[in-house]
Parts: sequence; C-alpha cells; structure tokens
Amino acid sequence: MRKNIVAGNWKMNKTLQEGLELAKGLDAALKGKSLNCDVIIGTPFIHLASVAAAIDTKVIAVAAENCADKESGAYTGEVSAAMVKSTGAEYVILGHSERRSYYGETYEILKEKVQLALANNLKPIFCIGEVKEEREANKQNEVVKAQLEGSVFNLSAEDFSKLVIAYEPVWAIGTGLTATPEQAQEIHAFIRSLIADKYGKEVADNTTILYGGSCNAKNAKGLFSNPDIDGGLIGGASLKVDDFCAIIDAF
Ligand code: PEP
Repeated sequence: MRKNIVAGNWKMNKTLQEGLELAKGLDAALKGKSLNCDVIIGTPFIHLASVAAAIDTKVIAVAAENCADKESGAYTGEVSAAMVKSTGAEYVILGHSERRSYYGETYEILKEKVQLALANNLKPIFCIGEVKEEREANKQNEVVKAQLEGSVFNLSAEDFSKLVIAYEPVWAIGTGLTATPEQAQEIHAFIRSLIADKYGKEVADNTTILYGGSCNAKNAKGLFSNPDIDGGLIGGASLKVDDFCAIIDAF
C-alpha cells in the first residue's frame, strides 16, 4: 500500500537555531498524536544532523534538499549522498524546479543524483512539473513524461519503488496560485499511468505521488481527497508549526 506523506521543504530559510526551534516545535506538536500520514521535513544541509538528533525521527523523518552528483572527492562545496545519510536523514529531495532552473540540473545530472542517493540508502523525493508556458500550451503531460524518462525510468522496478514522486507545477510554487484539485488529480493519474506502463500496475499503485505548489491549510483537504494525490510537498507553509500541522491534519 502506498503511503500518504506531508513533506516540508524549508528551502534556504532558517538559521541553525531557528531551524532547531521549528523542528522541536513540530516534534512537540505531533507527540502522542495519531497521524494518518508520514511526516518529513526537508532542511538545509547544515541543519540535518542537529535536527535529526533533536526530534523523534520515527515520527518526523528528515530529508536533505539536494545532494551531489558525484560520489566523493575534490568537489568543493558539495555534499555527497553518503554524507547526507550519515546525518540521520532518510530522504533527499531531488529535481526541485529551483535546482533545475537556477542551478542547471539536467536530466543526466539528476539521473546520477538519484542513483547515488539510492546507493546510499536515501529515498529520493523526485520532483517534476511544467512551467506556466508549457501548461498554457497544454504540454504538461509531455513535460512530466520527459522528466521521468530522462532521470528515473532507467531504474529497476525495485529501485523505482523506493522513490516518492512530487508533481509540482512550477507556476504554482511560491506564487499563491494552486492547481485546482481537478487539474492536479488529472495529471497525477496520468503520472501513475506512465509508471504503470513502465513498471506495471502494482508498482504504480504503490507509488506515493505528492502535490506541491502553494499548498496550504485551506486547500490541502480538497487536493488530498483525490484518489491519486497522496499528500503534499510544502514550501512556505512548512515554515510555521501551526500552518504545517494544519496541512498534516487535512489527512
Ligand atoms: C516547493 O518549493 O516545493 C513548494 C511547493 O513551495 P510552496 O509551497 O511555497 O509553493
């Protein structure tokens, strides 16, 4: 059975002290609660080890927001998948549209990152999604298909099954615009059909597909109540305990 997941993506926000306060606040808020979804927080690299040590990672799993496309060595400033894993992180967000557009992450680079993440027992949260012009030209399906084929459809079924997919229309990220539940459900079902074509129905049915893009306490329930939307990847609304908890409560 696939999991429902609410995952936060803090992006480049919060000092170490602020991040620890947020993580501990969330940990306290969720303590003893019975949750209908898994909870993940994606933090900057520098927070990972301290956050993982400060919270109950059986309740809140920790994710990095990126990892290197190289195993180790002379790559100044990079952080490898093995290093991420050594912090206590369980997941790594890969292919976020901000990484693709601002840092030139190509299908090939992402393919390397996904493989290194898996080789180091990290579960990738692999992000895909179209930009506004592509949606306006009704090209969203071909865009997400190319993104999957370009970076993850080379994996074995066993490895693919370790991935979480996050559909994030770029025009909805941080803009306050959200895909309607109908738009999101339609493309999530399409993504699941692509996975079924490639790996079979069982793998597709077991793949968690998250929606991301201005998801908040008000719209989460409408989105999550669709059959192919298994939760959310949350940016802005993951930066405050109450906002994030309200999205978790949507399940
Ligand atoms: C994101 O960056 O993954 C995201 C969905 O951001 P926001 O929720 O702020 O739109």
